[in-house]
Amino acid sequence: MGKPTGFMEYKRKPMSNRAADVRIKDFDEIHEHANTDKLKTQGARCMDCGVPFCQSDTGCPIDNLIPEWNDLVYHEEWREALDRLHKTNNFPEFTGRVCPAPCEGSCCLGVIEPPVTIKSIECAIIDRGYEEGWIKPQPPQSRTDKTIAIIGSGPAGLAAADQLNKAGHTVTVYERHDRPGGLLMYGIPNMKLDKNYVQRRIDLMIEEGVTFITNAFVGGSPQLKAGAVDNDENTQFIDINDLRGDFDAVLLATGSTTARDLPAPGRELNGVHFAMEFLHQNTKSLLDSNLEDGKYISAKDKDVIVIGGGDTGTDCIGTSIRHGATSVVNFELLPKPPQERAADNPWPQWPRILRTDYGHEEAIDTYGDDPREYQILTKEFVGDDEGNLTGVKTVRVYWRKDQNGQWQMTEVTGSEQIYKADLCFLAMGFTGPEKILAEKLGLETDNRSNFKAEHGEYATNVEGLFAAGDCRRGQSLVVWAINEGRGAARKIDEYLTGASELPAPDVET
Ligand code: FAD
Ligand code: SF4
Repeated sequence: MGKPTGFMEYKRKPMSNRAADVRIKDFDEIHEHANTDKLKTQGARCMDCGVPFCQSDTGCPIDNLIPEWNDLVYHEEWREALDRLHKTNNFPEFTGRVCPAPCEGSCCLGVIEPPVTIKSIECAIIDRGYEEGWIKPQPPQSRTDKTIAIIGSGPAGLAAADQLNKAGHTVTVYERHDRPGGLLMYGIPNMKLDKNYVQRRIDLMIEEGVTFITNAFVGGSPQLKAGAVDNDENTQFIDINDLRGDFDAVLLATGSTTARDLPAPGRELNGVHFAMEFLHQNTKSLLDSNLEDGKYISAKDKDVIVIGGGDTGTDCIGTSIRHGATSVVNFELLPKPPQERAADNPWPQWPRILRTDYGHEEAIDTYGDDPREYQILTKEFVGDDEGNLTGVKTVRVYWRKDQNGQWQMTEVTGSEQIYKADLCFLAMGFTGPEKILAEKLGLETDNRSNFKAEHGEYATNVEGLFAAGDCRRGQSLVVWAINEGRGAARKIDEYLTGASELPAPDVET
């Protein structure tokens, strides 16, 4: 630890965001660029704990060497900090921007003070690494004769590809959309993660020898939608069994792409969409034409309702505001979380208290009110004679435990209400990967419809076939996808060569 009294001398100062009224005018990143001089003192706040909870099971899922790089940043040894960061994390420029930072939630300093700004420090280290030109392609020095196909180019597929390529194997990544990156590219909006950063990393991987084949729908057919969007004329359909024959191993990293539906009356009305249709089309149009091609669902001058909280709901709010929506309301079925740490909870606050994310902040700034309505259930989508959505009928609910201690929901009599709406986005989570590949392969699934493979092992019941990321774990986080991609790479390497020197995160117990 560079400065034993640092945590007493310096206050927490995380990376700041641009002002809400300014940033809603564009789709540029909301974050302000980190001031690396200030981060020196933020690194000094780390107490270099005997048991660094930030790095433990409850903290960082990829075992980032957090106290080590906090100290290196305090000593302004940025190059060394970068090398230490890359030891455990293939893509700190993604997690440094979008990770909800369970490490900060576990930071011991959080017991008495706001935690160390671990995420901001991580982001600054990697951004500085690119700015200084320290990050250069590093192809493997020799190649094995082993080949691996990875289906899906989200963070799980990318992390596995990066690791397996480092081990000298020949890796081909198949992606059904026109750009690789999975939800990093076409889920998380540009204002949270600039797509130039995603493409920059993919370009680096290409220079290192990874092959990406886009518009390649493995196991698909012209009749099937590619997740939230339609196939286009460029889509090619690839038989999964051909891939199994052509490659020594195959990794499924296809994500959790089946969106949870809301089969209430009126669901078929124009204006009711899955959140991912909205978000995917918006980013594609933004990247293709700066939104000039008009090939997206516009919320301009519309009353918008977003059903479901979480990251997806927040991203729909932020995107609608940037389009110029007249109003945005966000329905949440569960009760409002507490705004402060409970008196009997000595542990850090996050994530047990109300989180006001960037989209909520922007809605408050734009419309004057918090968009979130809690304990509200959608009963019906209401439309006009032409089949267009005009409103959403709701009822209030309350929750209480029954005699078995299970929470039960009850509707409040007489609380029905119709909210005016032209657009409604369903952001209620995902129910697992699509069934098509499991059916074709005779792949076992677990009781939540995910591909069945043990965490830490990643092998499925089909010989030579592995699964990692949200398609195995269920909808989760970027950092968990990296955890799984790294872990699966090690297991595939072992499967192909009998042993592996690839590092992998500890599996949580
Ligand atoms: P994905 O990123 O889903 O990638 C899977 C890829 O496989 C997709 O590109 C898909 O097109 C492709 N694919 C699927 N089937 C096939 C096939 N048959 N053939 C070819 N390709 C196929 N997490 C965070 O940590 N922070 C956030 O702020 C955050 N925000 C989010 C916002 C939204 C709107 C959403 C939906 C998720 C968010 N998440 C966030 C969650 C995070 O993005 C995911 O947990 C993570 O991307 C999962 O990675 P993955 O590689 O398993 O799958
Ligand atoms: Fe530093 Fe917090 Fe980790 Fe302790 S838990 S080592 S204070 S970052």
